[in-house]
Amino acid sequence: MDCVFCKIVEKQISSDNIYEDDEILSFKDSNPQAPIHALVIPKKHIVSVDKLRENEEKIIGHMFLKIKDIAKKLNCRNGYRIVSNCGKGAGQAVFHLHFHLLGGRALAWPPGLKNDLF
Ligand code: 5GP
Ligand code: ZN
Repeated sequence: MDCVFCKIVEKQISSDNIYEDDEILSFKDSNPQAPIHALVIPKKHIVSVDKLRENEEKIIGHMFLKIKDIAKKLNCRNGYRIVSNCGKGAGQAVFHLHFHLLGGRALAWPPGLKNDLF
């Protein structure tokens, strides 16, 4: 499958890994948008939150429990943000489910607008 994150899971593309187990992988984003910017992905190819199936409930819970540990490991002392862009209009560029973990600077709310996407 021509999926960059599947290739990272298969180690065909190198990544700066933070955490790995049988189900999930976390690695540093190659184009960081904050001093701390990690990605957390399931090893299984799932397209996005929007494409989740009932039997994938467990892996999502597992990912969030590990995100908490990863945030601690990366020293996100003043808080962090978890983002999942779902679909082109929301800025999804890699169609393999991933959660961005952002921290290490102040994070504005609401997130930025990009008028060309819609
Ligand atoms: P999206 O826009 O789909 O929500 O986020 C995809 C993210 O994956 C982007 O932040 C982008 O920088 C990151 N990314 C894309 N290709 C690679 C890669 O080959 N290695 C790593 N580490 N990150 C990647
Ligand atoms: Zn994939």
